[in-house]
Amino acid sequence: MSVIAVAVAVAIAAGLAAPSLLRRAAVHRLRQIRDSCCERCGAPIDSGARFLIEGRMVCGACAGRTYRRVRGVLWGVVGISALGTLAACVAVWARWQRGEPHGLWLDGMLILGFPAVAGFSIVAARRLGPRRARG
Ligand SMILES: [Zn+2]
Repeated sequence: MSVIAVAVAVAIAAGLAAPSLLRRAAVHRLRQIRDSCCERCGAPIDSGARFLIEGRMVCGACAGRTYRRVRGVLWGVVGISALGTLAACVAVWARWQRGEPHGLWLDGMLILGFPAVAGFSIVAARRLGPRRARG
């Protein structure tokens, strides 16, 4: 049997199994919400300590873990952006020293682009950040 035939067979099997698996996952999720359990760890949560993160109702511990993870990733993005901006500044300075005007527009875009990416990431993360759920 050729590799393509195996791939087609796997794709057909996945297509047949997907609706049942998705329905089962949705029922499980609805049951967790109804039973007011955390959608990440499954622990029971009382109404005072539930958080809505990325559309999921989670407990305080999972909200804290997610917040710390997002904060770590954000610091990584900010660090890489700072290094990129610094490298672009050095490149502009080196070109200016050699008297080469070519490529200055690209360096300028990088100098503006890295902080812009970091800023958009911070704004997006703040919008997705832990929010205490009502009710
Ligand atoms: Zn949890």
